[in-house]
Formats: sequence, structure tokens, C-alpha cells
Amino acid sequence: MPAIKIDQDKIKEAVQTIVDLGGDGIRNCVQCGACSAVCPGVKAGFPVLCRLLIRKILNGQLEETIEEVSTWGCQSCNRCTEVCPQGVRPQEVVFAYRRYQAGELAMSASAFGPQMSLYETGHAVTTDATAANREKVGLNPVPPTALQNKAAQKEIQTLLDESPMADLGIF
Ligand code: SF4
Ligand code: SF4
Repeated sequence: MPAIKIDQDKIKEAVQTIVDLGGDGIRNCVQCGACSAVCPGVKAGFPVLCRLLIRKILNGQLEETIEEVSTWGCQSCNRCTEVCPQGVRPQEVVFAYRRYQAGELAMSASAFGPQMSLYETGHAVTTDATAANREKVGLNPVPPTALQNKAAQKEIQTLLDESPMADLGIF
């Protein structure tokens, strides 16, 4: 039946796209939900992470979910990876999905601030609280990273200028 063939092609393409972008464990998912149960992103109100995000990809719904903002709520804690009985590494699937979104220039508005900060300072997230906490324990409020290294900042800017994100005009 032609309709089923189209769906199967779409599923194959969606899964392969995510595998190619680094989410190579996705085919092993059995939809048990253990990852979603421990995911702070899901608990914070970003439901399309872990099991549900994988379900949508396995259904071939890549285009339909391109504007999904939940993926940007991932905190990179890797709790999902620790509990997954199938070795899927759900965080890698989330990051692969983000790469797919970024490649299509479909980034969440909440991702723009960190991107601009990365371009300007070499760090995606810098806060006054972090600086104050470092001072409190006797450290230089500015960590010895790209924040203190103008040459590294310049290299990061060059990389970002060459990336698809430059097309967004946010730098
Ligand atoms: S790494 Fe991301 S997807 Fe995995 S549990 Fe943490 S917040 Fe959720
Ligand atoms: S814990 Fe692993 S197998 Fe279970 S739903 Fe999550 S990714 Fe799939």
C-alpha cells in the first residue's frame, strides 16, 4: 500500500537523520519511560524530551516537531543515560535533535541569549551570581577560560561566523 510505504520512508529518514547527527542509540529504545521519569527537564514542563522525543522521531515526525522548544530545556545532567536499560543515551538523541533544529535554523528564542553570550565572551552562560560565588571562596571572579583569553574568544567568533547560526543575524 503506497501510504504505508511513504510512512516507512519517512520513519527511516527521520531515524537516520538523528543517527547521523550523533543519536546512534535511538534504534534500541523500547519506550519504557525510565528516562522521562528522572528527567528534570520533563519535570520542569518540557515534555518532549527523552521517551516522548524518541517516540516522535521513531514515528517519523521530524518536520512536525521542528519548532519544538522542549529540547532546549535539557540540562545535560545525563540522568537519562544512567537509567536507560537499553544503552540508548537519550541525551545524545536530544543533542542530535538540537543539531537538526539548528541546521534548519529552527532554534528556540531562549537559545539566542546564550548564543550571543558565547559569541561575545566565549561562554554561553555567565552570571553575576557565579562571579560572586567564586569571589566568596577566594577565586578570581573571572574564571581562567575563554573569558580571560581574547585570542580564544576571537577563534570562537570566527567559528560561529562560519556556522549556519550566522544566517540568523544574531551576532
Ligand atoms: S540529560 Fe537532558 S534529557 Fe537527559 S535527563 Fe538530563 S535534562 Fe533530561
Ligand atoms: S530509558 Fe531508554 S529504553 Fe527506556 S524510554 Fe528511555 S531511551 Fe527508551
